[in-house]
Amino acid sequence: MPQTDLLKTDCSKCAALCCIALAFDKGKDFAFDKNPGEPCRNLSGHSCTIHDRLTQEGFPGCVAYDCLGAGNRVVQEIFGGRSWQQDPRLTRPMMEAFSGMREVHRRIDLLRAAATLPLDSQDDQTRRDFLARLEQHRWSGAELNDFEVGLALEIDIFFHGIRKYVSAERSAGW
Ligand code: SF4
Repeated sequence: MPQTDLLKTDCSKCAALCCIALAFDKGKDFAFDKNPGEPCRNLSGHSCTIHDRLTQEGFPGCVAYDCLGAGNRVVQEIFGGRSWQQDPRLTRPMMEAFSGMREVHRRIDLLRAAATLPLDSQDDQTRRDFLARLEQHRWSGAELNDFEVGLALEIDIFFHGIRKYVSAERSAGW
């Protein structure tokens, strides 16, 4: 486990990336439709104007959502604290980097969770190696854009291969 937990979300160091990048549909989780790349109409600066009453206003989906620290990491590490609101030209690259970093952090979360499986030593070493590569790397926007067609595929193949341990755990009564 790294000293600073990469998966800890800190909205105060983000630029409301989830509130612009993500799409949602009107329904039980969201009160209206929103397209990807469209700033939410409840957004003011980097703050949600209904943050204290999201569920009552029909947005439990926002309460449930967690980017696993991807947003703050993108803003701070890749864009030096800048925001698409100050410079609209950053909107697209920030959204793309956010998308890639979410995939990185989702796999970090899964690789950590796999530590609870009874992996043999070789598979556990592979798990640790992938985890170190994801946690210790300082990503560029270009690398994040390539992540899903490169390293992410290797990791997903590894996940497929360790499914047998999940079955073993279940049959053992886990
Ligand atoms: S309702 Fe608030 S938290 Fe949800 S997307 Fe809009 S601004 Fe963000």
